[in-house]
Amino acid sequence: MKKIYAFVAVAMAALALMGCSGVLRPNFDPSSQGLVYQQEKVRTPSLSLTFFGTSTVLLSDGSNAIMTDGFLSRPSWLQLLLTRFESNVDEIEFALGQANVKKVDAILVAHSHHDHAMDSGLVAQKTGATVYGSESTLNIARGQKTPESQLQLLRPGQSLLIGNFKVTAYETPHSPEPVNVGSIDHPLHAPAKLSEYKLGENFSFLAEHRLGNVLIVPSSNYKMHAFDGVRASVVVLGIGVLGKQSVEFTERYWDEVVRKTGAKLVLPVHWDDFARSLREPLVPLPRFMDNMTVTLERLQSLAKRDGVEIRFLPTLREVRLPVLNDSTAH
Ligand SMILES: [Zn+2]
Repeated sequence: MKKIYAFVAVAMAALALMGCSGVLRPNFDPSSQGLVYQQEKVRTPSLSLTFFGTSTVLLSDGSNAIMTDGFLSRPSWLQLLLTRFESNVDEIEFALGQANVKKVDAILVAHSHHDHAMDSGLVAQKTGATVYGSESTLNIARGQKTPESQLQLLRPGQSLLIGNFKVTAYETPHSPEPVNVGSIDHPLHAPAKLSEYKLGENFSFLAEHRLGNVLIVPSSNYKMHAFDGVRASVVVLGIGVLGKQSVEFTERYWDEVVRKTGAKLVLPVHWDDFARSLREPLVPLPRFMDNMTVTLERLQSLAKRDGVEIRFLPTLREVRLPVLNDSTAH
């Protein structure tokens, strides 16, 4: 298996050197396709969102801030496939600095694969946040010497009050055929191999607020009826490897997460190649993992059917969300 990974890494490096970007990955530029999220001019208080690539987003109401995952190091494919790797403090500080993030209250971690959980502990130490996640996730943060006072085990269905946010964690499945299943049962000391970042449990998060409800689904899969009764005006929708799934799967995912919750704005995340630094513009995942062109075509037809807007967030820049009050549903 390792030989295959090494071959893929070398082949990707060769293609990149040859400049064959369209061969290696789909060409995608949200600005040329008119798909960049344009914030409305809002005078009244509103929630804001900052996107850091993959499924790391920061949601704030000006007083309190909640981050998902906190993955900012983004080690390269060569590091991931051929070496042991660890968090990159320069990359973490660059991303937090660019986005002007100082204080975070909570880091809610979807699952413990490296592209979600590897930096959570360090980001918590830099921002004062508490890390909420599975035992596996907490063991990664423990390996980074995060104090126990900044670690909280998250249970399925649990709700947290964070300032004026009420956040509920839903256990939902990881995208199909996940790698490295299992759990991390002891503090994980980096540098570690990719295979040591075992999945643990996977969560989605509903942030309820009087200024609007935001549902964040980091991993693109669904559990039937998981969000029955949930209302959200905005869905932060994980679309990683969705291009490899069937049309029917994509439609059921959309129906369970977007249609049922009544959301009118969908902000796709986890579409980018997580092995490239945040100092570079985001590009889609390589074709051997995903096909974003296919995903987008399918999602846009569902969005048109349901009168929903799909927009891509700028990176490392805070944007205001429309003021939408979902409180009548709860
Ligand atoms: Zn994963």
